[in-house]
Amino acid sequence: MGTPTQRRTKASARRRASHFAIKKQALVKCSNCGQALLPHRACSKCGYFKGKKTVK
Ligand SMILES: [Zn+2]
Repeated sequence: MGTPTQRRTKASARRRASHFAIKKQALVKCSNCGQALLPHRACSKCGYFKGKKTVK
């Protein structure tokens, strides 16, 4: 990697850092037991997905 040829101003560093924040994770409720889940994944509590038991 090369060495930076010019110093970055505080403003330019902060402008770049404005995109570093972590977005809040999207959550859905299990249709079977109401547990909060990540979307498009089987329920970790009851194993249901799309109204069927998919995990034993
Ligand atoms: Zn569930």
